[in-house]
Amino acid sequence: TERTLVLIKPDGVARALVGDILARIERKGLALVALELKTVDDELARRHYAEHEGKPFFPALLEFITSAPLVAAVVEGPRAVAAWRQIAGGTDPVEKAVPGTIRGDFALSTQNNLVHGSDSPDSAEREIAIWFPDLDS
Ligand code: ATP
Repeated sequence: TERTLVLIKPDGVARALVGDILARIERKGLALVALELKTVDDELARRHYAEHEGKPFFPALLEFITSAPLVAAVVEGPRAVAAWRQIAGGTDPVEKAVPGTIRGDFALSTQNNLVHGSDSPDSAEREIAIWFPDLDS
């Protein structure tokens, strides 16, 4: 079994898509092992998105992710990292995400693309430690 970090970004919370998104996770057969609604500060956002520092979209991304409450979750199951990325759809909701995925069904913007998922088991471990430092592994 494997764990991944899921974020329902501020746009997903603002658009009242939390229930729909969590339902998709549960229907896929993945399990929620931690779940929290929180507003994050700049420091946590920078740590989470450290790999994007210096990119043109980085300042706007920090602004967006700290702008309003988001939902953070740890999701567990066989191949959870890839399974969640499949449900989420590609980063660009129009060019990459296909219909049937969260982004393909509900998003238009490459920044405000509703959800985040760790891109590998190693990233998942790093990100879960940032968001849920007290969760036992
Ligand atoms: P996430 O890591 O959030 O699941 P991802 O792995 O699909 O997304 P990354 O390339 O890691 O995509 O980018 C992280 C986030 O940064 C994206 O989800 C999106 O919100 C934002 N982002 C990425 N590329 C762009 C871009 N070209 N313009 C604006 N925002 C972007």
